[in-house]
Amino acid sequence: MIELTGAMITVSPLHIGTGKKRGTFSETREYVPGRAIRGMVGYYLHSNNHELFKKLRIDEDSDMGKTGVFFKDALPRYVNEKDSSIIKPTVASPVSLRWCKKCKNLMKSTECSNIINGKKCLHEGKKMTGFITKDSITTRKLEKASVNKTIITKCPIIRGGHTSPGLDYELSPYHIESIPQKTKFEFRCIVEDEFVNDLKETLNEAGVFGGLGGYRSRGYGSVAFTEMKKIPVDDVINKRANELSQISNLMMVTNSPMIIRDDKKCPVIGFDSHFCDYASKTFALSGHDGVLRLKDDEHVIKQRITKGIAAGWSIKHENRVPEIIFCIGHGSCVEIDANNFKALAALEVFGVGEMTNSGYGDVYFMEGNI
Ligand SMILES: [Zn+2]
Repeated sequence: MIELTGAMITVSPLHIGTGKKRGTFSETREYVPGRAIRGMVGYYLHSNNHELFKKLRIDEDSDMGKTGVFFKDALPRYVNEKDSSIIKPTVASPVSLRWCKKCKNLMKSTECSNIINGKKCLHEGKKMTGFITKDSITTRKLEKASVNKTIITKCPIIRGGHTSPGLDYELSPYHIESIPQKTKFEFRCIVEDEFVNDLKETLNEAGVFGGLGGYRSRGYGSVAFTEMKKIPVDDVINKRANELSQISNLMMVTNSPMIIRDDKKCPVIGFDSHFCDYASKTFALSGHDGVLRLKDDEHVIKQRITKGIAAGWSIKHENRVPEIIFCIGHGSCVEIDANNFKALAALEVFGVGEMTNSGYGDVYFMEGNI
C-alpha cells in the first residue's frame, strides 16, 4: 500500500460541525475528521465512478482488512508567528504533559523551572488540548496550531426572499463559525498501490464538486489538494521502526478518537486487553507479528484517558449518524512495551480499533511517562 500525504487547502469557508449547537450558534471543529473526507470521496465516487467505488471497497464499515483505503483526520498546521515560512505538521497534544501557564515551557514538576531574565519562572502548569508540533516535546517549547475562525450571521431565507425577522418571528438569524479560505490542513491517507492516481484525481474533483462539512448549499466546504507525495507503506514502516527502536520509555498517544468495544458492542473507555486484541488485529492486517504489552504499576495500567464521542460514518446510510459512540478521546496516553518495532510502526500507519478507515484510532509513539 501507499501513504499519500499533502496539503488540503480550503477554497471557500469551511464549517465542520461539532454536534454541539448553542442556541443559534454553530461551532466549527479545528480539524477535518477522516470520516468527512471519506464521506466526500465516497459520495462523489458513488455517483460519478461506481467502478472505482466498488474496487476501493470504500463503503466497508466493519472489517478493516477488507477496505482498500484508510482516510486519516486532516489536522491543522503550525505556522510560526514571527516567520510564516516555518510550517510544521501537528499531533494531538498528550494529556500527560503539563505546560507553564506563563512561558509555555514543558513542565518537569509542579513549578516551572524555566529561567527567564536570570530568574526561575515558577508559574504553575496546565494540560493542553488541541494540536501541537512533535518538536514541542523535544525542545520543550510549545508550538501550537492556531486556526483562524470567523463568525458570519445569516438570515433565514423564506419564500418572499431574505428577511430581518421581528421579535415575534420564529425564524431568527443564525451564526455560523467557520475556517476561512486558504487555510491548510495536513492530509494523509493509505491506499492500495494501483488506485493512488485515481484517488488523487478523485480528491481534486470531489473537493470542488462535492465538498466537505456543513452549509455547502451556501457555498461552504470547497477544498483543493496540493503538495501531494507518495511513499510506499513499507518504507514508512522501516524508517519509523528504526526511530522507535531508539526510544527507551515508549508511550502511545491517541491522535484521533479511538473506538474500542467489547463483544457486546459496549464501548471500552481506556486501554486494557480489548485494546491489545485490536492492536493484534492491526498487526495481522499489516502482515506483522507482534505483541504489545501495557505497562502497569501493581496491576494498574499506566494510562491517562480523555473521553470522546464518535459519530456518523456509514456511507451505506448516507453518512448520517447511525449511532453516537462514547470512545477514547484525543491525546490519551498509555505506557507500553513491544517486541517488534515494525509492528508498532504499522499501528501508526493503520490505526487501532473500529473504523480506522474513517480516521478513528490513529496513534503515535513517543518517549514518555505517565
Ligand atoms: Zn514558565
